Amino acid sequence: MLPARFEYHRPESLEEALQMLSTLEEPKVLAGGQSLIPLMKFRFASPSNLVDINRIPALDRIAEENGVLRIGPLVRHHDVETSEVVSARYPVLAAAAPQIADPIVRNLGTVAGSIAHADPAGDWGSVMLAVGASFVLRSAAREREVAASEFFRDLFTTAIEPNEMVTEIRVPAPSGRVGGAYLKLERKVGDFATVAAAVHVRMDDGRIGQAGIALTGVGTTNIKASDAEASLAGAEPTEDAFAEAARLAAAAANPVSDVRGSAEYKRHMVEVYVKRGLARAVESARAA
Ligand SMILES: Cc1cc2nc3c(=O)[nH]c(=O)nc-3n(C[C@H](O)[C@H](O)[C@H](O)COP(=O)(O)OP(=O)(O)OC[C@H]3O[C@@H](n4cnc5c(N)ncnc54)[C@H](O)[C@@H]3O)c2cc1C
Repeated sequence: MLPARFEYHRPESLEEALQMLSTLEEPKVLAGGQSLIPLMKFRFASPSNLVDINRIPALDRIAEENGVLRIGPLVRHHDVETSEVVSARYPVLAAAAPQIADPIVRNLGTVAGSIAHADPAGDWGSVMLAVGASFVLRSAAREREVAASEFFRDLFTTAIEPNEMVTEIRVPAPSGRVGGAYLKLERKVGDFATVAAAVHVRMDDGRIGQAGIALTGVGTTNIKASDAEASLAGAEPTEDAFAEAARLAAAAANPVSDVRGSAEYKRHMVEVYVKRGLARAVESARAA
Protein backbone atom coordinates (compact mmCIF):
# COMPACT_ATOMS: atom_id res chain seq x y z
CA MET A 1 0.00 0.00 0.00
CA LEU A 2 1.12 3.59 -0.54
CA PRO A 3 1.20 6.06 2.35
CA ALA A 4 -1.38 8.83 2.53
CA ARG A 5 -0.32 12.21 1.19
CA PHE A 6 2.16 14.14 3.37
CA GLU A 7 4.55 17.08 3.15
CA TYR A 8 8.26 16.32 3.54
CA HIS A 9 10.57 18.75 5.38
CA ARG A 10 14.33 18.56 5.80
CA PRO A 11 15.54 21.01 8.44
CA GLU A 12 19.23 21.94 8.55
CA SER A 13 19.41 22.56 12.30
CA LEU A 14 17.86 21.28 15.51
CA GLU A 15 16.27 24.67 16.16
CA GLU A 16 14.61 24.61 12.73
CA ALA A 17 13.32 21.08 13.36
CA LEU A 18 11.87 22.07 16.74
CA GLN A 19 10.23 25.13 15.17
CA MET A 20 8.63 22.87 12.58
CA LEU A 21 7.34 20.52 15.27
CA SER A 22 5.76 23.52 17.01
CA THR A 23 4.11 25.10 13.98
CA LEU A 24 3.26 22.38 11.44
CA GLU A 25 0.02 20.45 11.56
CA GLU A 26 0.31 16.80 12.72
CA PRO A 27 4.10 16.59 12.42
CA LYS A 28 6.19 13.47 12.93
CA VAL A 29 9.94 13.16 13.25
CA LEU A 30 11.52 10.85 10.67
CA ALA A 31 14.74 9.24 11.94
CA GLY A 32 15.69 5.79 10.60
CA GLY A 33 12.21 5.21 9.19
CA GLN A 34 12.32 1.54 10.20
CA SER A 35 9.08 1.76 12.18
CA LEU A 36 7.42 4.91 10.84
CA ILE A 37 7.60 4.13 7.12
CA PRO A 38 5.98 0.65 7.45
CA LEU A 39 3.27 2.20 9.66
CA MET A 40 2.61 4.86 7.02
CA LYS A 41 2.50 2.29 4.24
CA PHE A 42 -0.14 0.32 6.14
CA ARG A 43 -1.85 3.64 6.90
CA PHE A 44 -1.73 2.97 10.64
CA ALA A 45 -0.03 6.40 10.75
CA SER A 46 -0.85 9.29 8.42
CA PRO A 47 1.11 12.32 9.56
CA SER A 48 0.49 15.46 7.51
CA ASN A 49 4.11 16.59 7.84
CA LEU A 50 7.31 14.56 8.08
CA VAL A 51 10.30 16.30 9.64
CA ASP A 52 13.39 14.40 8.48
CA ILE A 53 16.21 15.01 10.97
CA ASN A 54 18.85 13.00 9.08
CA ARG A 55 20.68 16.03 7.63
CA ILE A 56 21.10 17.83 10.94
CA PRO A 57 24.77 17.80 11.93
CA ALA A 58 26.11 16.38 15.20
CA LEU A 59 23.02 14.44 16.23
CA ASP A 60 24.89 11.15 15.81
CA ARG A 61 27.27 11.53 18.76
CA ILE A 62 27.74 8.79 21.30
CA ALA A 63 30.22 9.70 24.03
CA GLU A 64 30.80 9.46 27.76
CA GLU A 65 31.08 12.90 29.37
CA ASN A 66 30.85 13.99 33.01
CA GLY A 67 29.67 10.62 34.27
CA VAL A 68 27.03 10.11 31.59
CA LEU A 69 26.90 8.21 28.31
CA ARG A 70 25.18 10.61 25.91
CA ILE A 71 23.41 9.09 22.91
CA GLY A 72 22.25 11.54 20.25
CA PRO A 73 19.00 11.14 18.29
CA LEU A 74 20.76 9.89 15.13
CA VAL A 75 22.84 7.20 16.84
CA ARG A 76 21.94 3.99 14.98
CA HIS A 77 21.74 0.55 16.56
CA HIS A 78 24.92 -0.31 14.66
CA ASP A 79 26.76 2.65 16.21
CA VAL A 80 26.07 1.24 19.67
CA GLU A 81 27.04 -2.24 18.54
CA THR A 82 30.44 -0.97 17.36
CA SER A 83 31.09 1.66 20.03
CA GLU A 84 34.31 1.06 21.97
CA VAL A 85 33.10 2.85 25.08
CA VAL A 86 29.90 0.80 25.09
CA SER A 87 31.70 -2.52 24.70
CA ALA A 88 34.19 -1.57 27.43
CA ARG A 89 31.81 -0.08 30.02
CA TYR A 90 28.11 -0.66 29.30
CA PRO A 91 27.53 -4.42 29.31
CA VAL A 92 23.72 -4.43 28.94
CA LEU A 93 23.82 -2.07 25.95
CA ALA A 94 26.66 -4.07 24.42
CA ALA A 95 24.74 -7.33 24.85
CA ALA A 96 21.48 -5.97 23.41
CA ALA A 97 22.71 -4.03 20.35
CA PRO A 98 23.69 -7.00 18.14
CA GLN A 99 20.42 -8.78 18.95
CA ILE A 100 18.24 -6.03 17.46
CA ALA A 101 16.63 -6.92 14.13
CA ASP A 102 19.03 -7.57 11.25
CA PRO A 103 22.05 -5.68 9.89
CA ILE A 104 19.97 -3.55 7.49
CA VAL A 105 17.65 -2.35 10.24
CA ARG A 106 20.58 -1.84 12.62
CA ASN A 107 22.32 0.38 10.06
CA LEU A 108 19.31 2.65 9.72
CA GLY A 109 17.20 2.48 12.87
CA THR A 110 18.05 4.75 15.78
CA VAL A 111 18.02 4.11 19.52
CA ALA A 112 16.00 7.30 20.12
CA GLY A 113 13.51 6.32 17.40
CA SER A 114 13.04 2.98 19.08
CA ILE A 115 12.45 4.62 22.45
CA ALA A 116 10.02 7.15 20.93
CA HIS A 117 8.15 4.41 19.08
CA ALA A 118 7.66 2.54 22.39
CA ASP A 119 6.87 -0.88 21.00
CA PRO A 120 6.71 -3.16 24.07
CA ALA A 121 8.57 -5.74 21.99
CA GLY A 122 11.37 -3.21 21.38
CA ASP A 123 14.65 -4.07 23.06
CA TRP A 124 16.04 -0.63 23.96
CA GLY A 125 13.16 0.23 26.29
CA SER A 126 14.06 -2.62 28.64
CA VAL A 127 17.77 -1.86 28.43
CA MET A 128 17.15 1.79 29.38
CA LEU A 129 14.86 0.83 32.27
CA ALA A 130 17.42 -1.64 33.63
CA VAL A 131 20.32 0.83 33.57
CA GLY A 132 18.31 3.77 34.93
CA ALA A 133 18.57 5.95 31.81
CA SER A 134 16.74 9.20 31.20
CA PHE A 135 15.62 11.00 28.07
CA VAL A 136 16.01 14.67 27.21
CA LEU A 137 12.85 15.99 25.56
CA ARG A 138 13.09 19.33 23.82
CA SER A 139 10.55 21.63 22.17
CA ALA A 140 11.07 25.12 20.74
CA ALA A 141 10.06 26.51 24.14
CA ARG A 142 11.63 24.22 26.75
CA GLU A 143 13.82 21.26 27.64
CA ARG A 144 13.07 18.60 30.24
CA GLU A 145 14.56 15.31 31.34
CA VAL A 146 12.30 12.32 31.94
CA ALA A 147 13.44 9.13 33.68
CA ALA A 148 12.90 5.95 31.67
CA SER A 149 10.71 4.69 34.52
CA GLU A 150 8.31 7.64 33.93
CA PHE A 151 8.53 7.67 30.16
CA PHE A 152 6.68 4.59 28.88
CA ARG A 153 2.98 5.18 29.45
CA ASP A 154 1.13 2.56 27.38
CA LEU A 155 1.28 0.67 24.10
CA PHE A 156 3.18 2.95 21.66
CA THR A 157 2.55 5.83 24.08
CA THR A 158 5.20 7.87 25.88
CA ALA A 159 5.70 11.12 27.76
CA ILE A 160 6.75 12.89 24.50
CA GLU A 161 4.46 15.80 23.56
CA PRO A 162 3.71 16.23 19.82
CA ASN A 163 5.97 19.30 19.61
CA GLU A 164 8.89 17.59 21.39
CA MET A 165 11.85 15.58 20.22
CA VAL A 166 14.12 13.18 22.07
CA THR A 167 17.40 15.07 21.77
CA GLU A 168 19.54 12.89 24.02
CA ILE A 169 19.49 9.59 25.88
CA ARG A 170 21.50 9.71 29.11
CA VAL A 171 22.85 6.53 30.66
CA PRO A 172 24.60 6.90 34.03
CA ALA A 173 28.25 5.87 33.74
CA PRO A 174 29.01 2.76 35.77
CA SER A 175 30.74 3.20 39.09
CA GLY A 176 32.41 0.22 40.73
CA ARG A 177 31.99 -3.32 39.53
CA VAL A 178 29.03 -3.58 37.17
CA GLY A 179 27.84 -6.40 34.98
CA GLY A 180 24.93 -7.00 32.71
CA ALA A 181 23.16 -9.25 30.28
CA TYR A 182 20.42 -9.12 27.68
CA LEU A 183 18.75 -12.44 27.00
CA LYS A 184 16.35 -12.59 24.09
CA LEU A 185 14.16 -15.44 22.86
CA GLU A 186 13.29 -15.00 19.20
CA ARG A 187 11.71 -17.33 16.64
CA LYS A 188 14.53 -16.68 14.19
CA VAL A 189 17.46 -14.30 13.91
CA GLY A 190 16.22 -10.77 13.19
CA ASP A 191 12.82 -11.24 14.79
CA PHE A 192 11.29 -9.20 17.58
CA ALA A 193 11.50 -10.79 21.02
CA THR A 194 9.05 -13.45 22.10
CA VAL A 195 10.42 -12.59 25.54
CA ALA A 196 13.59 -10.81 26.61
CA ALA A 197 15.15 -9.70 29.88
CA ALA A 198 17.66 -6.91 30.55
CA VAL A 199 19.68 -7.36 33.73
CA HIS A 200 22.16 -4.90 35.26
CA VAL A 201 23.97 -5.35 38.59
CA ARG A 202 26.47 -3.41 40.63
CA MET A 203 28.48 -5.42 43.15
CA ASP A 204 29.51 -3.85 46.48
CA ASP A 205 31.96 -5.86 48.59
CA GLY A 206 30.77 -9.16 47.17
CA ARG A 207 27.08 -8.36 47.61
CA ILE A 208 24.60 -7.00 45.08
CA GLY A 209 24.62 -3.25 45.70
CA GLN A 210 22.02 -2.47 43.09
CA ALA A 211 20.08 -4.40 40.46
CA GLY A 212 18.13 -3.25 37.40
CA ILE A 213 15.77 -5.71 35.70
CA ALA A 214 13.37 -5.02 32.84
CA LEU A 215 11.27 -7.18 30.54
CA THR A 216 10.48 -7.09 26.82
CA GLY A 217 7.41 -8.43 25.03
CA VAL A 218 5.34 -9.32 28.07
CA GLY A 219 3.03 -6.32 28.57
CA THR A 220 1.74 -3.14 26.95
CA THR A 221 5.08 -1.44 27.73
CA ASN A 222 8.57 -2.59 28.58
CA ILE A 223 8.25 -3.52 32.25
CA LYS A 224 10.56 -2.54 35.10
CA ALA A 225 10.55 -5.46 37.53
CA SER A 226 10.78 -3.27 40.64
CA ASP A 227 9.97 -5.95 43.25
CA ALA A 228 12.61 -8.25 41.78
CA GLU A 229 15.14 -5.40 41.85
CA ALA A 230 14.31 -4.56 45.46
CA SER A 231 14.65 -8.20 46.54
CA LEU A 232 18.29 -8.15 45.44
CA ALA A 233 19.45 -4.93 47.07
CA GLY A 234 22.19 -5.87 49.54
CA ALA A 235 21.68 -9.60 48.90
CA GLU A 236 24.34 -12.28 48.60
CA PRO A 237 24.48 -13.38 44.94
CA THR A 238 23.17 -16.89 45.60
CA GLU A 239 21.08 -19.26 43.48
CA ASP A 240 18.21 -18.77 45.93
CA ALA A 241 18.35 -14.97 45.65
CA PHE A 242 18.38 -15.21 41.84
CA ALA A 243 15.47 -17.68 41.89
CA GLU A 244 13.37 -15.43 44.13
CA ALA A 245 14.07 -12.36 41.98
CA ALA A 246 13.22 -14.36 38.85
CA ARG A 247 9.94 -15.47 40.45
CA LEU A 248 9.07 -11.84 41.27
CA ALA A 249 9.97 -10.72 37.74
CA ALA A 250 7.71 -13.40 36.25
CA ALA A 251 4.92 -12.17 38.54
CA ALA A 252 5.39 -8.63 37.13
CA ALA A 253 5.03 -9.86 33.54
CA ASN A 254 1.65 -9.63 31.88
CA PRO A 255 2.03 -11.65 28.68
CA VAL A 256 -0.70 -12.61 26.22
CA SER A 257 -0.88 -15.78 24.14
CA ASP A 258 -0.13 -15.25 20.45
CA VAL A 259 1.69 -16.86 17.51
CA ARG A 260 4.96 -16.56 19.42
CA GLY A 261 3.80 -18.65 22.38
CA SER A 262 1.27 -19.04 25.17
CA ALA A 263 1.13 -16.62 28.07
CA GLU A 264 2.24 -19.43 30.43
CA TYR A 265 5.26 -20.23 28.29
CA LYS A 266 6.31 -16.57 28.08
CA ARG A 267 5.98 -16.10 31.83
CA HIS A 268 8.06 -19.22 32.40
CA MET A 269 10.72 -17.91 30.01
CA VAL A 270 10.88 -14.61 31.90
CA GLU A 271 11.72 -16.58 35.03
CA VAL A 272 14.35 -18.65 33.22
CA TYR A 273 15.95 -15.62 31.56
CA VAL A 274 16.02 -13.39 34.63
CA LYS A 275 17.65 -16.14 36.69
CA ARG A 276 20.17 -16.87 33.94
CA GLY A 277 20.73 -13.14 33.30
CA LEU A 278 21.49 -12.49 36.96
CA ALA A 279 24.08 -15.27 37.07
CA ARG A 280 25.69 -13.90 33.92
CA ALA A 281 25.59 -10.28 35.12
CA VAL A 282 27.15 -11.11 38.49
CA GLU A 283 29.86 -13.17 36.82
CA SER A 284 30.72 -10.29 34.45
CA ALA A 285 30.69 -7.78 37.34
CA ARG A 286 33.14 -9.94 39.29
CA ALA A 287 35.43 -10.05 36.26
CA ALA A 288 35.21 -6.28 35.70
C1 LIG B 1 12.28 -6.02 10.00
C2 LIG B 1 12.38 -5.24 11.27
C3 LIG B 1 12.79 -5.91 12.41
C4 LIG B 1 12.91 -5.21 13.61
N1 LIG B 1 13.32 -5.90 14.72
C5 LIG B 1 13.50 -5.23 15.88
C6 LIG B 1 13.99 -5.90 17.04
O1 LIG B 1 14.31 -7.08 17.02
N2 LIG B 1 14.11 -5.18 18.18
C7 LIG B 1 13.79 -3.84 18.24
O2 LIG B 1 13.93 -3.23 19.30
N3 LIG B 1 13.35 -3.18 17.15
C8 LIG B 1 13.20 -3.84 15.98
N4 LIG B 1 12.75 -3.15 14.87
C9 LIG B 1 12.41 -1.70 15.00
C10 LIG B 1 13.69 -0.89 14.75
O3 LIG B 1 14.52 -1.02 15.87
C11 LIG B 1 13.42 0.61 14.50
O4 LIG B 1 14.59 1.14 14.00
C12 LIG B 1 13.07 1.46 15.68
O5 LIG B 1 11.97 0.92 16.34
C13 LIG B 1 12.67 2.89 15.27
O6 LIG B 1 13.80 3.65 15.03
P1 LIG B 1 13.86 4.57 13.71
O7 LIG B 1 15.03 5.45 13.84
O8 LIG B 1 13.77 3.71 12.51
O9 LIG B 1 12.54 5.47 13.90
P2 LIG B 1 11.48 5.95 12.85
O10 LIG B 1 10.84 4.80 12.16
O11 LIG B 1 12.02 7.03 11.99
O12 LIG B 1 10.42 6.60 13.87
C14 LIG B 1 9.68 5.79 14.77
C15 LIG B 1 8.80 6.70 15.63
O13 LIG B 1 9.61 7.44 16.53
C16 LIG B 1 9.46 8.85 16.29
N5 LIG B 1 10.78 9.42 16.46
C17 LIG B 1 11.95 9.01 15.86
N6 LIG B 1 12.99 9.70 16.36
C18 LIG B 1 12.48 10.57 17.26
C19 LIG B 1 13.07 11.56 18.11
N7 LIG B 1 14.39 11.78 18.15
N8 LIG B 1 12.25 12.26 18.91
C20 LIG B 1 10.91 12.04 18.92
N9 LIG B 1 10.30 11.13 18.14
C21 LIG B 1 11.09 10.39 17.32
C22 LIG B 1 8.89 8.97 14.90
O14 LIG B 1 8.16 10.18 14.74
C23 LIG B 1 8.00 7.74 14.84
O15 LIG B 1 6.80 7.98 15.52
C24 LIG B 1 12.61 -3.82 13.67
C25 LIG B 1 12.21 -3.15 12.50
C26 LIG B 1 12.10 -3.84 11.32
C27 LIG B 1 11.69 -3.10 10.09
